[in-house]
Amino acid sequence: MEPTPQNSTAHECPDCHALAADLEAHKRWHSRIVHDLAVAVEKEVERRTRTP
Ligand SMILES: [Zn+2]
Repeated sequence: MEPTPQNSTAHECPDCHALAADLEAHKRWHSRIVHDLAVAVEKEVERRTRTP
């Protein structure tokens, strides 16, 4: 039996379907991760395309 969190404060994230107590903060965390990922990928692509 797994306990199902039925807290009224927990919301399911529409993006990753994780239960977040603070969906606003979770979404902010999402955009931050996505931004960091985008920057990292951009740097990696730039590094690969640039031949020394
Ligand atoms: Zn999420």
